[in-house]
Amino acid sequence: MSKRIAGPEIERLIQLLAKLPGLGPRSARRAALHLVKKKDQLLIPLAGAFAEAADKVRICSTCGNVDTSEPCTICTDPRRDGTTLVVVEDVSDLWALERAAVLNARYHVLGGTLSPLDGIGPDDLNIAGLVSRVAKGEVTEVVLAVNATVEGQTTAHYITDQLAGLNVKVTRLAHGVPVGGELDYLDEGTLAAAMRSRTAF
Ligand SMILES: [Zn+2]
Repeated sequence: MSKRIAGPEIERLIQLLAKLPGLGPRSARRAALHLVKKKDQLLIPLAGAFAEAADKVRICSTCGNVDTSEPCTICTDPRRDGTTLVVVEDVSDLWALERAAVLNARYHVLGGTLSPLDGIGPDDLNIAGLVSRVAKGEVTEVVLAVNATVEGQTTAHYITDQLAGLNVKVTRLAHGVPVGGELDYLDEGTLAAAMRSRTAF
């Protein structure tokens, strides 16, 4: 058994930090040491920010986004185009698309993908909420911005079927050559998809 080098409070801090994505035990120790050394500048303000966020974080009942207001900031922003709805698997995908800043649309977060092997069916995802949002009539286009995985595409097909009776255009992201990508390095599946979705130059 390894010798303990710090009190239980610091050990607990290290254990919790190590659960964060991108932080292993080694970087968690470094982060914890940095925090306790910078108690006034970092540890205390961060503890306050954590407590406040923990108190206020909600899941938006309209779109499934995570925010400190309900409905969320995106759903209540009057400058966003309410006729285009972008469907994503996770909030991280929403943030990624917002960073790309191509559409000024609203979102719908599914909370995962259909995966029969893992026991995840339509009722485990926010799909019924999507259908009822679209059924209200304001949305004219649903963009399926799901991952280019088997589960993502299965989910996209299922949603397309569910929306079939409604008067809405359903689109999906193009699959193909990444910006800055070299053809020689791409896998055959990506190349084939890029060739199938070729556009006029
Ligand atoms: Zn929302």
